[in-house]
Amino acid sequence: MKCPFCGKKTVEGYVQGARKIFFTEDIHNFFLAPDFDDLLLSKNNWTKPNCKAYHCPDCKKVIVDYSENEA
Ligand SMILES: [Zn+2]
Repeated sequence: MKCPFCGKKTVEGYVQGARKIFFTEDIHNFFLAPDFDDLLLSKNNWTKPNCKAYHCPDCKKVIVDYSENEA
């Protein structure tokens, strides 16, 4: 995948975490699970939460593909 910001080839990999990975418009201060209106990004949430992602080291951006999430 080409970086949409600079056009160079991105590095394909994963964003991985210890808990469900989600996008939220407001930072959670205490409860680190997604709310009903948050967007779950990760799959394999019981064993190794991860989502496919593309990294551009030049732009320092990561693009997440959450089409395989387990929402
Ligand atoms: Zn870039």
